[in-house]
Formats: sequence, structure tokens, C-alpha cells
Amino acid sequence: MPLSTSRKAQFSLLLLLTVLLLGGFLATSLVSYYASRDSIRDSIVNTELPLTSDNIYSEIQKDLIRPTQIASMMSRDTFLRDWALDGEQNAVPMTRYLREIQDHYGTFTSFFVSEKTRTYYQAKGVLKQVREDEPRDIWYFRVRNMAEPYEISVDPDLANRDRLTFFINFKVFDYEERFIGVAGVGLTVDAVVKLVDDYQRRYDRSIYFTDRHGRLVLTSAAGGPMGAQRGQLLSEVPGLEAMLKVLPKPATGRFDYSEGGRSHFIYVRYIPELDWFLFVDKHEEHALANIRHSLYLNLIICAAISLVVLLLVHQAIRRYQRRIAALATTDVLTGLPNRRGFDLLAAQALQEAIREQSPLSALLIDLDHFKNLNDTHGHLAGDQVLRGFARALQSNLRQSDIICRWGGEEFILLLKGTGSSTARQLAEKIREQTEREVFLFNGVNLRITTSIGVTELQGDENMDRLIARADRALYRAKQSGRNRVCEDAGGLQS
Ligand code: GH3
Ligand code: MG
Ligand code: MG
Repeated sequence: MPLSTSRKAQFSLLLLLTVLLLGGFLATSLVSYYASRDSIRDSIVNTELPLTSDNIYSEIQKDLIRPTQIASMMSRDTFLRDWALDGEQNAVPMTRYLREIQDHYGTFTSFFVSEKTRTYYQAKGVLKQVREDEPRDIWYFRVRNMAEPYEISVDPDLANRDRLTFFINFKVFDYEERFIGVAGVGLTVDAVVKLVDDYQRRYDRSIYFTDRHGRLVLTSAAGGPMGAQRGQLLSEVPGLEAMLKVLPKPATGRFDYSEGGRSHFIYVRYIPELDWFLFVDKHEEHALANIRHSLYLNLIICAAISLVVLLLVHQAIRRYQRRIAALATTDVLTGLPNRRGFDLLAAQALQEAIREQSPLSALLIDLDHFKNLNDTHGHLAGDQVLRGFARALQSNLRQSDIICRWGGEEFILLLKGTGSSTARQLAEKIREQTEREVFLFNGVNLRITTSIGVTELQGDENMDRLIARADRALYRAKQSGRNRVCEDAGGLQS
């Protein structure tokens, strides 16, 4: 295979491996990433948000139930009713009564508003008169006119620097079921706000409440969605368009929307005690950051493994290529370079000789009557002699000399930097040694002689011409009786 074709095949193989490895790793990493993302989303929507919602709801209930009972008890209290029916003579017993409730039951505030005098009593004394035209007193007239016996509302507490307070307002009736006022207790919503803050901080979710019209009634200290404040309608908050597309009005259920490319999940729950909706809103960014991190780590590891595998494959291919190249240029029987190997080395040597104008000699060696040896002792004996002869030949060479099994029982030597007389001496040495050498095969001593043609590179000859002259010298050696060295000193003109 030509070198460029083999390079191309190697490149295609490596490319295919790269695509398979990276594609496979990428596919498995992405599949596991999306599977994890789905399970995270599933756990957010089906577990985390409902759980948060349940916890907050039960916390609110817990905070409201006991005070509701206290307020209910106040509305039936005979002292309170008798005192009101007696004409509210002295405020002191009433304020003492309200202080007792407040201190003993740990409510934030306690109050009684008389229908007859419209006086607002609380633990510290008389606070004010409620008036129908005063917006802050609207709550009283709302309670007075409602059908239900009580309500729970969230209003600023007038008696406590307008602090946001849960009020439990019970209607009070006399013994003939005539309306005589409103009594109840107030609770600070700090505890709920603290809970909301705590959840937001710990679980990276945002929690807020709206009334049935979508007006924000309670948020964490930091505010509601997109920093919206209490009192704002969700529909007036810029940036909530996507959410309001799926949720134009509050309704219990699960919803999702996307904000700036990140998915939000919300869980809405109705709180009947307050007639409010509780929103728990969480984006998946934080939860996804972890699995995204492991996705990147996965991909880095996969890329590193792919790189190592590709490097190993590349090295193995190169090693085998070199091995194949060596096999293709080596003679199996003697281990010497074959003609293909010789061509590469000889071309270099010729260039060097011409460039450096140094002598270069060739020896063409042929074993005499080798066919007879094969015929007499067998082909294996012939092989043995060829191997032995090649070994002996090598022992006579310098590092720079080039040797080759030219074919059959013929060998060629190229001697760099060597003129014909030195080459001839070496040829003679080889001839003599071979003549003397005994090759042992199966207990039989075998002998062989060689004929050698010697020649030196002339002018700017090419390799073919040099070898042709060596061949001519060898022919002469054969012709003149074998076991001898003949030199061709040039003059072969075509
Ligand atoms: P000459 O002196 O004229 O060179 O006579 P020769 O017999 O050596 O020459 P010829 O070309 O007639 O015969 C060469 C023989 O070498 C014939 C072939 O069977 C044998 N031969 C070639 N390669 C191998 C080999 O690898 N192993 C063995 N055992 N014999 C080989
Ligand atoms: Mg021959
Ligand atoms: Mg021969």
C-alpha cells in the first residue's frame, strides 16, 4: 500500500474511533444528565414544593388555632358582655381584663370595640373611637356587617406602630343575640415571615401569599417575586408575564414557567382560614448546578480517556507499521535486507557518494555450484549454508557498509568511502574465508566457494549501471573458473 493511502486509512480509523468514543461518551453523559434533571424536576414539583407548602400551612394553622379559641372565648365571656351592657362605666376593669388575656395567653394584642360607644379598648387603655369615614376603621364595619361569626384578617396594628398583624375578630352578642361589639386578639405575623425567610434562605425558593384577586398580602422580608412588595397585584409586577400566562388568577395546583432561560416551578395552595393563596416558587438552577458540574466532570474524564485511547491506538498502529515496513524490506531466511531494503539504502549511499565525491564500491557475490549442493544434500542444507554464509559475510563489514541478499544465492555489498583496491582486498578476504569455512548440517560438513565481481562507482553513474558492471565482473569470474574475484574497472558503455 502506498504511504499516502496507508496514512489516509490510519487517519480515517482514528477519526472513526474519535467519533465513536466521543459520541458514545457524550450520549451516555447527556442521557444521564437529562435523566437526573428530570428526576430533580420531578422531586421539586412532586415532593419539595408540596412539602414546603404543607409545612407553612400547618405552621400558620398552629399559630392561628389557639388564638381563635381565645377570641371565641372572649366573645362569650359574661364579664365582657355584662360590662358592656352595664354602660361601660369604668374603663379600668376592661383594660385589666384585656391585659390579663394578653399576658396570660401570650397574644400580641387584645381588644374590644363597643358598638354602642364605638370605643376601641385595648390592654393599655382606651385607644380611640372608630369612625365609619376613617379608612383605618373599615375593618370594624366589615366585621359588623358580615354574616360569619368571625374572621381572620391581616392588617396593620394601629396600636403597635402599624406592625403587620393577624387579627382574629369575633362578633360579640348580648344574651338576646343583639350585636354589641367586636372582641378579639392580634398576633404578629413576624413568626410566619420568619418561617418564610428561613425557607427561602435554606431551600432557595421564594414564598409569598396573595388574596383571591392576586394581590400580594404577605411576602418575605426581601419582598415577593421580582422584588414585588405587599399590596401589589401580581398582574402589575413587570417580569411575571410568563407566569401569569399560565396563572392569570391564583388557583390551587402546580405550574411552571421560564424566566430568563431558567425554569421555575410553582406550587399554589388555597388557605381557607385566610382566604389566601400560598405560592411556593422555585427555580431549578441551584439544583441543576450540581448535576451540571458532574456532567462537565464526566465530559472532561471521557475526553481524557478518549485521548489516551487514541494515543495508544496511534502508537500501536505506528509500531505495527514499522514492523510491517521492516518485514517488507528484510529477507526472512538470512535476516539481511532484501532488494526493496537495499534500494532505499543504496539510493542514499549513491547520493552521498556523488555529493561528497567519495568513492563507492560494489561487490556482487555468487555461490558456486549451489544447485549441486542443493541436489546433493537437500534444500534445507542449502538454506543452512545460505544462513551461515550471510552471518560470515556480516562479520566482515563495517557499520556503514550496505549488505543485501540480492536473490537466490547472490549477495551484494556496497562499501561507502571505499575504492576498488580496498574493495578487491575485502572480496579476496571473503573468498578465502568462504573457501576455508565448514558449514555443518545434520552432522555433515559442507563447503562452498564464491565468485565475486568488484567494481567502483565511475563519475555520475547510476546504481543500475554500477551493478551491471559488477555483474559483468562476476560473469567473468564464473567464466574464468569460479572461486575467484574479478574487477570491472569501467568502460561499459551503452
Ligand atoms: P553457478 O556456479 O553458475 O552459480 O551455479 P549455480 O548452481 O550456483 O547457479 P544456478 O543459478 O544454476 O543455481 C542457483 C541455485 O540456487 C538454484 C536454486 O535452487 C538455488 N537456490 C536459490 N535460492 C535458494 C534458497 O533460498 N534456498 C536453497 N536451498 N536454494 C536456493
Ligand atoms: Mg546464481
Ligand atoms: Mg551460483
